[in-house]
Amino acid sequence: MSNVDLLGRRKFIAGLGIAAGAAMVAPAMAVSEKADGVKWDKEVEIVIIGSGFAGLAAAIEATKLGAKDVHIFEKMSYFGGNSAINGGLFAAPGTPMQKKEGVEDSVERMVNDQLASGRGIADEALLRHVASHAVEALQMTLDAGSEYHPYLQQLGGHSVARTYQTTVSCGAGITQPLYKECKRVGVNTHNRSKFEGFLVGSKGEVVGVKMRTNYHFGEDQPGKVLNIRAKKGVIMATGGFAQNVDLRMAQDPTLNAEVGCTNAPGATGEGMFEMFRLGAIPVHLAHIQSGPWASPDEGGFGYVSNYSIYNFPHSMAIHRLTGKRFMDEIADRKTRADAELSCRNEKGEALPPILITSYKDSKNHPNTKKVIKYNVGWKFDTIEELAKHFDVPLKPLKAQIEEYNSYVKSGVDKQFGKNMTKAKDKYIEAPFTVVRLWPKVHYCQGGVQVNVKAEVKDSFTGKSIPGLYAAGEVCGGIHGVSRLGSCSIPECMVMGMTAARSIMKA
Ligand SMILES: Cc1cc2nc3c(=O)[nH]c(=O)nc-3n(C[C@H](O)[C@H](O)[C@H](O)COP(=O)(O)OP(=O)(O)OC[C@H]3O[C@@H](n4cnc5c(N)ncnc54)[C@H](O)[C@@H]3O)c2cc1C
Repeated sequence: MSNVDLLGRRKFIAGLGIAAGAAMVAPAMAVSEKADGVKWDKEVEIVIIGSGFAGLAAAIEATKLGAKDVHIFEKMSYFGGNSAINGGLFAAPGTPMQKKEGVEDSVERMVNDQLASGRGIADEALLRHVASHAVEALQMTLDAGSEYHPYLQQLGGHSVARTYQTTVSCGAGITQPLYKECKRVGVNTHNRSKFEGFLVGSKGEVVGVKMRTNYHFGEDQPGKVLNIRAKKGVIMATGGFAQNVDLRMAQDPTLNAEVGCTNAPGATGEGMFEMFRLGAIPVHLAHIQSGPWASPDEGGFGYVSNYSIYNFPHSMAIHRLTGKRFMDEIADRKTRADAELSCRNEKGEALPPILITSYKDSKNHPNTKKVIKYNVGWKFDTIEELAKHFDVPLKPLKAQIEEYNSYVKSGVDKQFGKNMTKAKDKYIEAPFTVVRLWPKVHYCQGGVQVNVKAEVKDSFTGKSIPGLYAAGEVCGGIHGVSRLGSCSIPECMVMGMTAARSIMKA
């Protein structure tokens, strides 16, 4: 079957159970069609869809390699996607800061850490490709003007300290310099421009895109659809689908609208759907990561996420109905998220558990002041006040604190087997700081399959779809079951740069 047999592909996708999701999220979309006889409204050298890490890195690299007419199209009114709101944590092996701090690291070591987290189904070749080029990607951000804290962090699952963080502790510390660099080197950027489909040549190659102009996200807008010819190729960098409740529920019905989301609203996945419709291979769509460190009292990632990531090791998570602990507070993300979602009242309604920390230990984190100031965290002088505020039975709560403190003393958690090393001498005692917890959908491990050239594989021929490249969270399978923290930025940037190199045949 050839790439141009689009109707046949649609039937194939329906067989995979994907068409239902596509129809639900994109009823008004024009879809991919043959380019024969199409009237081109515009002709450009390279089309990039999406303005996050992957799209921006692709544009800069393509221009560096001699491209003169690169265009980034972004459907939102603002540029940057999830990348602009992320935590700014960037992992790379063999960096100058590791040398300075005397940290022994290597590409193999980083790959092995990621393979362990991927639980046997990660794509080793892609992980190795990304780790091998991560320092180059980091350098691209430094050249563009990104600034990082002068120390490294060691995040969960990493065997050594290899994570840089922007001084603003946010991805905007990378996307803004990269965007400025794009403008400096002459990349054309278009906001409110929504990709709606591919235009496909007679040999099944992608020759252009259909872009809706003057698009207003979330509104029913007619806009005008332009046929844009891409002389060298199209790079899809449209990000994940965590904000698409229908699609994530099709993969896992527990991820309903009640489960909040840390992502930017535009992470809805239609670019990925359109690649499936064209023949791309769906990989690992059901592996969707929820962050157990999030709060139901604020939108998105907020202040609580970083606060609780820091405090979990020396805190107690309490079920408000029983006054007892219900999980190991530093188990992996999925184990904790599932445990939190099981916290319900007698009617089965969600009852977000609370994380209790001694104020003396929580106050070392800069977000503690903010969670209290913005009323998404609370300080209590006595256990009685705390129990009354959250309607927790006092007697069992007091008993639980006593029991937990005996584990702090002995170093052995007899309830849930928590590793108590970081809880050493950190007894739970007044005054307390408390936040509420409820998992939020955070990251999509699934997407379209790509190879180490960022080419998109065709499910029918097993070959790459000519003219089409993909990079970033829209791609699937790289991380397997679970991505390690700080490994998305290097992946998005390296694969964006790779797509540019493939297009420019560098
Ligand atoms: C709150 C938060 C914190 C995080 N912290 C970290 C961290 O510290 N370190 C780390 O490594 N990872 C982190 N991650 C994960 C990481 O940020 C993302 O995986 C990464 O930003 C994805 O980049 P991307 O370029 O693939 O997509 P995005 O940055 O999401 O960009 C995709 C863009 O494409 C646009 N788009 C989508 N569809 C269309 C269309 N049809 N037409 C036109 N445009 C379209 C979107 O609007 C968006 O702007 C975090 C994620 C979140 C949400």
